[in-house]
Amino acid sequence: MNKHLLSGCQEIIKHINAYIDGELDSSQCAQLEAHIDACTDCQIVFNTLKKTIQLCQGDREQISLPPEVRQRLLDSLGLGDENDDKDAQ
Ligand SMILES: [Zn+2]
Repeated sequence: MNKHLLSGCQEIIKHINAYIDGELDSSQCAQLEAHIDACTDCQIVFNTLKKTIQLCQGDREQISLPPEVRQRLLDSLGLGDENDDKDAQ
């Protein structure tokens, strides 16, 4: 039952938009922050997103990662294979 545990970079990147949008609950936030704190790769992703958001400040539109950017990030992290879905039903 580790479905809500945000432990891998892929999970972090999947949830990072929700985190920035304030949609995660406090325990998910804590897990995500702890990971980012310890993971340089995710720090880069997070800082890049934050910079993007600062550029868009004043704009109330939701910020989300374009699929191609997300794919590039996953590739650069060696996590490009999004279809490796162990928990698929
Ligand atoms: Zn990471």
